[in-house]
Amino acid sequence: MIIPCSEKCIYEEEGLCTLTEITHSSGTPLKDCPYYKEKGKKKDEAPQ
Ligand code: SF4
Repeated sequence: MIIPCSEKCIYEEEGLCTLTEITHSSGTPLKDCPYYKEKGKKKDEAPQ
């Protein structure tokens, strides 16, 4: 199961959620996503 997502989340990769175990979540995994983890704090991430 692939979930489109563009959050700055550690699980987000090229616009898709790589966390595939959230099948129990309903249709809005973004703002309400309990798995969201901000990845913007890594110094080695290129700014977008
Ligand atoms: S875990 Fe949630 S916030 Fe993070 S990429 Fe997946 S759907 Fe988006």
